[in-house]
Amino acid sequence: MPAKSASALHILEHVFGYTAFRGEQEAIVGHVASGGDALVLMPTGGGKSLCYQVPALMREGTAIVVSPLIALMHDQVSALVEAGVNAAFLNSSLDAESARAVERALYDGSLDLLYVAPERLMTPRFLDQLDHLRDTNRLALFAIDEAHCVSQWGHDFRPEYLQLSILPERYPSIPRIALTATADRQTREEIATRLRLGEARRFISSFDRPNIRYTIVEKDDPRRQLIGFIREEYPSDAGIIYCLSRRKVEETAAWLQEQGVNALPYHAGLPQEVRAEHQNRFLREDSIVMVATIAFGMGIDKPDVRFVAHLDLPRSIEGYYQETGRAGRDGLPAQAWMAWGAQDVVQQRRMIDESEGSEEFKRLGRNRLEVLVGLVEATTCRRQHLLAYFGESSAPCGNCDNCISPPQTWDATDAARKALSCVYRTGQRYGAGHLIDVLRGESTEKVVERGHADISTFGIGSDLDEKRWRTVFRQLVARELVAVDHERYNALTLTDLARPLLRGEAEFLLRVSTEKTRSRSRRSAA
Ligand code: ADP
Ligand code: ZN
Repeated sequence: MPAKSASALHILEHVFGYTAFRGEQEAIVGHVASGGDALVLMPTGGGKSLCYQVPALMREGTAIVVSPLIALMHDQVSALVEAGVNAAFLNSSLDAESARAVERALYDGSLDLLYVAPERLMTPRFLDQLDHLRDTNRLALFAIDEAHCVSQWGHDFRPEYLQLSILPERYPSIPRIALTATADRQTREEIATRLRLGEARRFISSFDRPNIRYTIVEKDDPRRQLIGFIREEYPSDAGIIYCLSRRKVEETAAWLQEQGVNALPYHAGLPQEVRAEHQNRFLREDSIVMVATIAFGMGIDKPDVRFVAHLDLPRSIEGYYQETGRAGRDGLPAQAWMAWGAQDVVQQRRMIDESEGSEEFKRLGRNRLEVLVGLVEATTCRRQHLLAYFGESSAPCGNCDNCISPPQTWDATDAARKALSCVYRTGQRYGAGHLIDVLRGESTEKVVERGHADISTFGIGSDLDEKRWRTVFRQLVARELVAVDHERYNALTLTDLARPLLRGEAEFLLRVSTEKTRSRSRRSAA
């Protein structure tokens, strides 16, 4: 398709002012422009917008862009109009008159791109207008941005997204492109199924940030560990330190200042002027360390942030990836450093249990936390774990703490095999809590009722305490020997990767450091 890609390049240069496509952009643009469906996974900042904006301008008629965020629509449309593109949006922020003007332009076919909120798209009135465009051959394509909003198990679920599945029925010849920056394997399949994009070509960009070194240490004396890290490695560089609470942000910033670090606090509870001033100083000056809650960072584009540190566990792997991704945007060596402790996990689990949400919401939160703890407890390459979460397989990186100095491990092969066997014997229908009861020989009501006190795995794991079993199960999930079925109460099921271990062809190692603190606390409790 040389003619097509030439005109894609022409649009890229003359409309958007860029000289070359990045990564997968060119292939995606070519595929969609020639009428193909696409499912695009690209990290934030990767350049998703051009993937539908360029084909929108190459194809006859108006492209319909479904977007869940009013602010985002606004920014995109302003930028497009600035570049001379005929773009508009329809959402609840428009008054009736402006909305009518946009609808008229849509009807006339004079729009290149129209951004709409999903609930607007699904109104009979709007669908009628789309029918008209279709019947006059002026419907260019559908772009579904933030496609993970269709996932019921994600944090951004938008029920209206489910209705987008009618598009291929009603407009079978119009190409669709779904885009997202956050989709683990399960979410990806959910997008494909629910949006009926099973046949769509998939474009998966790498989420790897090779210049970021990942380091995760166990908390001992976190402040001392933090100041040691900064003094040793980044005494005069810009960095971000994330804390969970506003109070901890302020205390940590004050303490760092006493230690001679150029630290400033940032959280949503500070007056607007103070936040703006701190943010400006961070952007302008060379060596500000911003101590912040997650309120800080969205849309901050400072290329030379040398480190991102976490003094508390982030909420999820996705959160960790987004937050650490603010380091080293210039491509030069940078570091993601985190201090964590078993106490943090207990605290976060309690916060989830005590939160307002539904049982299902809590179950999701607990699972997200488990997956994250799987990463911090890992004994092998951190990057491999992180990328595996995004469905990417890779070799050990040589640029994370576990690669650089492999942690001490204990052999949990036998325990892991018992765990797998218990999953199997109970019919792959139960969550870790129940399985641990069975392994430890606890005759709970549920264990007795399901007849699990009579099976061969009952009580075979009484030598390990509950916490240790939790670690074993968490690592079985993290290493994908076991999958979590969200649709069935987080039931654990065996995957193909469990086979070598069950056959005795693989070993299963766990970190010793965690073990030590645990057996110590057990002894003192005894
Ligand atoms: P995403 O939606 O994936 O987070 P955007 O589409 O907002 O990413 O693009 C991120 C930034 O990269 C924007 O500033 C955009 O202008 C820029 N960008 C995207 N593609 C290119 C390209 N081919 N050449 C130069 N800059 C690009
Ligand atoms: Zn590594």
